[in-house]
Amino acid sequence: MACDALAAAFGQQVSYPGQLAYNQSQASFTSTQEALLSPACVIRPTCAQDVASIISTIVPGGCDFAVKGHGHAADGGFANIDDGVTIDMTSLTMLSLSDDGAVVSIGAGSKWIDVYTYLDPYNVQVAGGRNGQVGVGGLMVGGGISHFSARAGWSCDNVVNFEVALASGELINANKSQNSDLWRALKGGGNNFGIVTRYDVATFAQGDISVTLTMNDVSQRSAVFDAFANIANAPDFDPYTALAVEMYFNSTSKLWIIANEAVYTQPVPNPPVYDELVAIPSISSSNKITTLPAYANSSAIPQTYWLYASATFAPSTSFMLETFDIWNNTFFPIEAAGGVIWFCHFETVPTVMTAYADETGGNVLGLSPKDGNGVAPRYYIVMLISAFWTDPTQTQAIQDAGKTALEKVRSAAKSKGVGWEFQYLNYAGGFQDVIKSYGPENVEFLKKVSKKYDPDRVFQERVPGGFKLPA
Ligand SMILES: Cc1cc2nc3c(=O)[nH]c(=O)nc-3n(C[C@H](O)[C@H](O)[C@H](O)COP(=O)(O)OP(=O)(O)OC[C@H]3O[C@@H](n4cnc5c(N)ncnc54)[C@H](O)[C@@H]3O)c2cc1C
Repeated sequence: MACDALAAAFGQQVSYPGQLAYNQSQASFTSTQEALLSPACVIRPTCAQDVASIISTIVPGGCDFAVKGHGHAADGGFANIDDGVTIDMTSLTMLSLSDDGAVVSIGAGSKWIDVYTYLDPYNVQVAGGRNGQVGVGGLMVGGGISHFSARAGWSCDNVVNFEVALASGELINANKSQNSDLWRALKGGGNNFGIVTRYDVATFAQGDISVTLTMNDVSQRSAVFDAFANIANAPDFDPYTALAVEMYFNSTSKLWIIANEAVYTQPVPNPPVYDELVAIPSISSSNKITTLPAYANSSAIPQTYWLYASATFAPSTSFMLETFDIWNNTFFPIEAAGGVIWFCHFETVPTVMTAYADETGGNVLGLSPKDGNGVAPRYYIVMLISAFWTDPTQTQAIQDAGKTALEKVRSAAKSKGVGWEFQYLNYAGGFQDVIKSYGPENVEFLKKVSKKYDPDRVFQERVPGGFKLPA
């Protein structure tokens, strides 16, 4: 059995059901669906060579395995596994800034708050997750939307080198000049090619940021969507702007509330770009100048059942209103015992963000500023539908509602000519066909890369979790 072989080689780095290290790993998932799975053992590598040796030990034995970062995926089985081996990467936490400050090397088991805190005294930062508890490992290989997206593209666009452990047990680098096909494939290709052990990431100069938070009654939604669409569609998108319109629905009170997170990545009090948003009558409104680590230092999220689903479309007030009506009509009638919080949001994906990949070696997401469907070329909104609940008997009804709402939004977007195929890996539900949404050329490219670096399809067949590249 793989666990015995791992225990013989790695001793106490391997833990079994009932042991403290095993329980800690299980408790650190944000989703109950992940935590309910029971790996035969959990192994915690402490260096890149450990990861390579673990793969070499597991693969010949025929055991399935999972790769876990900081456990923020919603679907059961994405970063955990029943009966197999879970490789918990969270002890790979090295951080090292190059002498010239241009590149930071990040152990793949780090979380973003540790990266931001480490970099802050050097007055540089990287484009990573907005919630500091999120793992670098998962966010990077799925794309990554940050406060800095308009300046720095997807988080993955900033990776100048991936150190990767392949299915063969070989540890290699993937960058512009070495294994450059794998370098591009890992920028959005998920866990389909190997286990990333280190991310070397380009930094940029960064001081304090400006954070505007407003809350509105749902009756103000049309004005809020107008303000959002005007920012999202601006041909000269302000590169310091990062706006998310977040809407919460509580199934018990049957109330929606709008919370807007309007970040400006310069220390400008009350930045004028948000004037229209701030002028809308609000329940509360605040602006502060703060540091990135202070703002990203969220507390850990309590473990609950989770749902994720995502779509992409062109920004317009009328379609956002239609989307809201779909959410409301679908979620309002659900009387979930124990309650469910629906958390739905819109985020801008401006042209300046999608264009960035062209300067940095490309990614496989299939979004380009040159794309267009003739209606609203080049502008995108990513929509996230998520839900949290605690009563397992409600899971089916909630998941069905989430899927139904997503399908209705996608089909309405298509019929209005405002829909995009792209589905964002890090916000999508396990039932979505994410890799296919990158387009046929990217899928073919990914298949070629997989064949070259993982000819036996270990990372599709023996690592069942995550969005898999089709055969
Ligand atoms: C509270 C919260 C806030 C979020 N904020 C943002 C945000 O601001 N921007 C954004 O873009 N996304 C955000 N997300 C989504 C987030 O990017 C994904 O959930 C991401 O997968 C989390 O990575 P993780 O390492 O924590 O998760 P995990 O569940 O541990 O891993 C997710 C997937 O990545 C794979 N993986 C992990 N590490 C590696 C590795 N080293 N090599 C290869 N594969 C690996 C796993 O196998 C798994 O399939 C957020 C999610 C939550 C819950």
